[in-house]
Amino acid sequence: MLENDIIIAGGGPIGLYLAGRLLQKGYCCTILEKKTAIDPHSKSLGIHPVSLELFEKAGIVEKFLLRGLKIKKGLAFWNREKLGEITFEHCPGPFRYILAIPQWQTEQILQQWVESLDPGALIRQAEVLDITEKESGVQAIYHKNGKKYTVSGKYLIGCDGKYSFARKTAAIPFDGSPYPDSYIMGDFSDNTDFGRQAAIFLHKKGLIESFPLPNGHRRWVVKTDQRVKKPESRYICDLVKERIGHSLYEAEPFMISSFGVQHFLAKDLYSGRILLAGDAAHVVSPIGGQGMNLGWLGAELCFLTLKKSLQHPGYHQKMFEVYSKKQREIVKQAARRAEMNMWLGRAENSGKAVELALRLLVQPPASHLLAKLFTMRGLGRWWV
Ligand SMILES: Cc1cc2nc3c(=O)[nH]c(=O)nc-3n(C[C@H](O)[C@H](O)[C@H](O)COP(=O)(O)OP(=O)(O)OC[C@H]3O[C@@H](n4cnc5c(N)ncnc54)[C@H](O)[C@@H]3O)c2cc1C
Repeated sequence: MLENDIIIAGGGPIGLYLAGRLLQKGYCCTILEKKTAIDPHSKSLGIHPVSLELFEKAGIVEKFLLRGLKIKKGLAFWNREKLGEITFEHCPGPFRYILAIPQWQTEQILQQWVESLDPGALIRQAEVLDITEKESGVQAIYHKNGKKYTVSGKYLIGCDGKYSFARKTAAIPFDGSPYPDSYIMGDFSDNTDFGRQAAIFLHKKGLIESFPLPNGHRRWVVKTDQRVKKPESRYICDLVKERIGHSLYEAEPFMISSFGVQHFLAKDLYSGRILLAGDAAHVVSPIGGQGMNLGWLGAELCFLTLKKSLQHPGYHQKMFEVYSKKQREIVKQAARRAEMNMWLGRAENSGKAVELALRLLVQPPASHLLAKLFTMRGLGRWWV
């Protein structure tokens, strides 16, 4: 049986980051990931400055900067009229931009990093089927190629996503509910004049967001009245044309999907020797692009907590409590910001009063504060 300091269930962006941090410090760690390979379907596109600062600390930020595209500015439109700009150049810290990079590339960079630290740490096609707590550790059984294997460790971290098996095993309630909002999303070749700028259209028929991606692509996120069951590029093209007059018909589509949004937060981020991080612990609306970034903030906090717990065995309970409290607080603040973004994007909130307020907000100095809110500054005192 393989003996570890830490077992990580789930090798998505959060599990891989946490594993890299632990391996870097010389801890023995196994990551069990049920998928054969990284999912090429891109969900997240934005890495915020707070995460880039973590990557810099870990010594991997250059790999992201080489592949990503720096968004330094966002344009705000009311229907089709430009209201103003939000620039990130006045934000604190060394990274005054949001880095656009598809999630699959992010996972690829993190996976290569983990493999460079320990080529055997990540086990793919390994689905965790059973987790048992022992007096001084945890044991996990996983399934691979029709056989069952057992690994043991001092602690197990559930980074296994929204439907977390680890969370269910630990019987931790996941409180929350869906929002009424739904969106259709598509990546196209970029045929706009926006260049490296994002553009947000608060339209009376519903929000449109448009973000540059590397390789001359652009992502469009369009609010829909209800969840689109069979998302097709033609539908996004029609909505974009109707609301803002831009023609996407000649642009090449690369990926089309639709999504509903929810918010969920685990009642506690630990139980016994099991901890939760990433979507296993919390889900916020992707409008505002914070979910994965929140996961990394939590994973860093989790890493610091585990380091102390491994150095001072017997005191882990108290440290886990502090981790849970701090990260839950950060998530609640982030969820409120995401809710505000969604509220603004709803057709019913397109009245004169909102328009006037926005006209003021997108001018300096208010726009500098908005830029900080959009880039996840000021979430939780430990990180400010
Ligand atoms: C449309 C959309 C757009 C988004 N855009 C953004 C954005 O711009 N910015 C942002 O910050 N966030 C964004 N997000 C959120 C982001 O995608 C998630 O927060 C992020 O993927 C969470 O990472 P994770 O590692 O916690 O979980 P996941 O990515 O879900 O990874 C969990 C992993 O665990 C594995 N797993 C599950 N069960 C088991 C098991 N029993 N055994 C072994 N392995 C298991 C899964 O195969 C998976 O690989 C977006 C989400 C959506 C849906």
